[in-house]
Amino acid sequence: MSDSLCGSAADIFGEDVFNDMAMQERLPRKVYKALRRAIEEGEELELETADVIAHEMKEWAIEKGASHYTHWFQPLTGATAEKHDSFISAPLSSGKVLASLSGKELIRGEPDASSFPSGGLRATFEARGYTIWDCTSPAFVRHDEGGATLCIPTAFCSYTGEALDQKTPLLRSMEALSKEAVRLLHLLGSKDVKSVYPSVGAEQEYFIVDREKYLKRMDLVFTGRTLFGAMPPKGQELDDHYFGTLRPRIASYMKDVNTELWKLGVPAKTQHNEVAPAQHELAPIYEKANIAVDHNQIIMHTLKRVAFRHGLRCLLHEKPFAGVNGSGKHDNWSLTTDDGSNLLDPGVTPHENIQFLLMLVCVLRAVDLHADLLRESAADVGNEARLGGNEAPPVIISVFLGKQLEDVIRQLAETGLATNSISGGKLKTGVSFLTDVSKDATDRNRTSPFAFTGNKFEFRMVGSHDSVAGANTVLNTIVAESFRDVSDRLERDYLNDPMAGVHDIIKEYAVKHQRIIFSGNGYSPEWTLEAKRRGLPIISSMVDAIPALTTKKTIELFESFHVFSETELKSRSEVKYEAYSKAINIEARTMMQMARRDFIPAIMRCIGEYSSSASAAKAMGADVKVQQELIIKLSGYLREAGEAVERLEKDTIAAESMENGRAQAVSFRDRVVPDMEELRKPIDEAERIVERSIWPVPSYSDLLFKI
Ligand code: ADP
Ligand code: MG
Repeated sequence: MSDSLCGSAADIFGEDVFNDMAMQERLPRKVYKALRRAIEEGEELELETADVIAHEMKEWAIEKGASHYTHWFQPLTGATAEKHDSFISAPLSSGKVLASLSGKELIRGEPDASSFPSGGLRATFEARGYTIWDCTSPAFVRHDEGGATLCIPTAFCSYTGEALDQKTPLLRSMEALSKEAVRLLHLLGSKDVKSVYPSVGAEQEYFIVDREKYLKRMDLVFTGRTLFGAMPPKGQELDDHYFGTLRPRIASYMKDVNTELWKLGVPAKTQHNEVAPAQHELAPIYEKANIAVDHNQIIMHTLKRVAFRHGLRCLLHEKPFAGVNGSGKHDNWSLTTDDGSNLLDPGVTPHENIQFLLMLVCVLRAVDLHADLLRESAADVGNEARLGGNEAPPVIISVFLGKQLEDVIRQLAETGLATNSISGGKLKTGVSFLTDVSKDATDRNRTSPFAFTGNKFEFRMVGSHDSVAGANTVLNTIVAESFRDVSDRLERDYLNDPMAGVHDIIKEYAVKHQRIIFSGNGYSPEWTLEAKRRGLPIISSMVDAIPALTTKKTIELFESFHVFSETELKSRSEVKYEAYSKAINIEARTMMQMARRDFIPAIMRCIGEYSSSASAAKAMGADVKVQQELIIKLSGYLREAGEAVERLEKDTIAAESMENGRAQAVSFRDRVVPDMEELRKPIDEAERIVERSIWPVPSYSDLLFKI
């Protein structure tokens, strides 16, 4: 398949997407215009117009080889879901069938989706859920082993209109943000702005391992991560993998991934090796938030599917291996107006750019007021082992602005006036033939969870396997709230002189929310103490992050923008507790099986072999001290493992029997997770000394270094 996928990016880009060009070519002028109005202004489509669009979309898809279509949606499982229908209509009297797709079928689907997590929003007997076409994200044809399918991006809601997915709240939050941003910009005198949307670029990290080896490990197959495994002699300490040359097998894999993504209109741009061995990254060019979220799902899916074809396996888990870095997803976020300007662009002299400074302090305020909620948006089970582990951002939310902006904010807070901006200057290389390039005014800080990087913010907490919808829904809404606060006050107190109001508010926000700014080392223990002193929330586990979804403050925030109702928030918190408990339960059960059926027997076998060797050697009068020591050590690990597995089983059964909800999740976290750690220890120790051929699963060395 690799060869047939060749082609330059420009030729193939978007060829499987029903994009603007395809629409213009296919749709009658009037229909095209109506669709554009629906996309840009949210105008409702007439059913007849939808009929025409559906027909043309189907014709186009059939030309691409599609036999089926699916409403493609993003339930609260973190993945995407689809239910395929073929295009065939009911047989005609002649016995023939026609291919058809009606406007109604395009606009609305009804998957009987009672099995998707709803957190109690729907009982099984009221299973109706609707998928509703999101015409702002283009439909596409996906080719895979099962043929070609027309995928129609949709939102997923219950019969009573509650959101059951990631996308509905995201779209609602984008509307809220646009409305408040436009209102504010109008008050500042930019009357031409019609809409503002969040731009998002999600950098995706992942691991690649050999599929044969993967299949030999039950923990990878069932949980996506290794639950046992001793570190090899070499890990990532040499940093020789980071940005290193790609191994041929990986290079050929990435080439295929890019080609597939380009065909689907996903602007895959950057790829490189990451810090850990076998770890890589793919970054697309940023797009409108909802499209970026869809495209990130397509990226994750494509990474997995292409790996399969190459005899590889893509691991999206946040922490597939203990002892080497895990994977995250940097969520780059900025604000773009309908005429394409970036509201977070500081210009050369940020202290003079009042509008930029206002945007900046609004974000500071938003992050400070809702740090707990932002932290929650990055909470997923896999991320537990990564956040705060000196490889990923700490669990404490803070904002890194860089020297230049931090100085401007300091001036503002102190005097209410910023009179200068530190400039970047020239970078001197000390080599005469290398051109001196101008530097950014600010260095980077890799330890910050929320960093300003030139003309965007980068939220670095999100897990590699998680959807970025949640984090962006929160970001959009909390910033909309800051904008609303400013506009309310400008309209109330400063109608005659809005610019005076802007100055006052910038100063006030800078003073009030300065505590969220931190540019030091986020990994250091001193920062935790300092954060405590500043009163910043320190939320170290997912289970403790979830309550942020249902505080009075959060409910008021989301309800006032119609992003989530209280019921929806409560249901989401239930879904999250349950997801946590289920994931840990599966991990615990997998560990028990592996310990009992793989590792304990292997250790016993090794003891047996060493013992017979020792007896034989002893009979010949040899010194058997080495064998004895190994046997004693292994027997010790065996006993510890045996006891640990019993304890794990007991505590798992106890947690399983509890009712779903917070208490159950707490029990899994406080009882079961420590038991899992206790079981892992003796088995990892044993792995270091058990004879290689006896060890029943591929080791970390096999997985990380032998591709
Ligand atoms: P870095 O993280 O090293 O600064 P890049 O500048 O290449 O790397 O950007 C990383 C990601 O941020 C890419 O997905 C890129 O498209 C995205 N990005 C760049 N500019 C913006 C912006 N203004 N808004 C949102 N995302 C952006
Ligand atoms: Mg980055």
